[in-house]
Amino acid sequence: MNIHEYQGKEILRKYGVKVPNGYVAYTVDEAVEAADKLGTSVTVVKAQIHAGGRGKAGGVKVAKNLDEVRTYANEILGKTLVTHQTGPEGKEVKRLLIEEGCDIQKEYYVGVVLDRATSRVVMMASEEGGTEIEEVAAETPEKIFKEIIDPVVGLLPYQARRLAFNINIPDELNGKAVKFMMGLYQAFVDKDCSIAEINPLVTTGDGEVLALDAKMNFDDNALYRQKDVIEYRDLDEEDEKEIEASKYDLSYVALDGNIGCMVNGAGLAMSTMDIIKHYGGEPANFLDVGGGATAEKVTEAFKIILSDKNVKGIFVNIFGGIMKCDVIAEGVVAATKEVGLNLPLVVRLEGTNVDLGKKILNESGLNIIPADSMADGAEKIVSLVKEA
Ligand code: ADP
Ligand code: MG
Repeated sequence: MNIHEYQGKEILRKYGVKVPNGYVAYTVDEAVEAADKLGTSVTVVKAQIHAGGRGKAGGVKVAKNLDEVRTYANEILGKTLVTHQTGPEGKEVKRLLIEEGCDIQKEYYVGVVLDRATSRVVMMASEEGGTEIEEVAAETPEKIFKEIIDPVVGLLPYQARRLAFNINIPDELNGKAVKFMMGLYQAFVDKDCSIAEINPLVTTGDGEVLALDAKMNFDDNALYRQKDVIEYRDLDEEDEKEIEASKYDLSYVALDGNIGCMVNGAGLAMSTMDIIKHYGGEPANFLDVGGGATAEKVTEAFKIILSDKNVKGIFVNIFGGIMKCDVIAEGVVAATKEVGLNLPLVVRLEGTNVDLGKKILNESGLNIIPADSMADGAEKIVSLVKEA
C-alpha cells in the first residue's frame, strides 16, 4: 500500500526524522490559510499524488507570498499531473501539501529497501539527490553506498555514520544525519514498510538535515497489524478494479494489455501472462482467484475483467486441484448472464470435475472456444484479439 508524502512525513516526524512544517489542503482557500498559518517568507505548494517526478511535471511550486500560493494552488488542484511514474493517463491532484520553504544547501538521497539477494534490509545513500536513483544506479553506480542491516541488532550508529561520511555530508552535520538515518530505519521496521525513500534529504543554510520528500510503501500482508497506516489509505489513488477485487479477496493487478486472464494459483497466473506474451499478446491483468474460490467469487472476478474497457478477449486458464472446474464454469456463466459477453472467450479447463465444468459451459449457450492446452489457448486468444 502507498501513502502520500505528507502522511509519510507525519510518520517520520514521530521517529525523530526532521521534516519541514506543513499542512495538507483540499481547497485553494485551505491552501492560503495553511500558508498564512506557517507564516514563512517562502512557501512550497506540492501536489499530493501517489507518484514521484512531480517537480518536473509542474506539481511543486515555490511561492513568495500568499497571492502566489493562491495562484499555484489554483493551478495544481484538479490538474491531471503526468509524471514518468503515473503513466500517460496521469493522476488528478486532489490534495496539496503546503510546506515551509527550505534554504537548501545540497540534496542527497537515502532509501531503505528489502534486498532479496541478501535477505536483508539495506540502507542506500548517495550525494546525487533530487534526481532519479535509477539513473544514478545506471550511470554512476559508484556514487551509491549501501549498508546491509543485520535484523538482530538493526542499523548500527557506525553504519549510519559511514553512510553520511561516504556521501559527503559535512562533518559538523554527521550527528544529525545519523539521527535521521536511525529514525528512518526504525520507522521502516516498525511500520512494516517495503520502501522508505527520502529523495531529497537536504542540508540547509541553518545547519539542519531534513527530509524534503518522503515515499513510503507498506507490505500489504502486514496491514492487519498496522491500523494507523490503513487510516492513510486513499482510495482515489487506487485502481477501481483492484479495490473491487480486494473486497472479494482476489489477487488482482491491472495491467496495460487487452487480454483479460482468469486463472487459479499465482504461479499459473504468471505463466499464463508469459505464454500470452510469447504468442505476441499483452495481458490486461494478473488475476489469481485462489484455491478455494466460490462461484460467487469467480462471478465477481469475471465481472471485474469485463468492466475493463481495454479488454478485447478473455482467457480462462484453470487447473482444478482444490478448485473445481464446475465452480469456475458456474461463475463464468453467472457473470456473463448478469453483464453480457460480446468478447471472444477461450477456456482451458483441466483437473477436478473437468467434465462437469465443460458440460456446464457447453449447455450455457455461450460462444466459448475450448482449448486443449495452455499453449493452444494462448495462441487462440491472441489471434482472436488481433482479428477483432
Ligand atoms: P518529486 O520527487 O515528486 O519531484 P519532491 O518533493 O522531491 O517531489 O520535490 C522536488 C524538488 O522540489 C526537490 O528536489 C526540491 O528541490 C524542491 N522542494 C521540495 N520541497 C521543498 C521545500 N519544502 N522547500 C524548498 N524546496 C523544496
Ligand atoms: Mg522527490
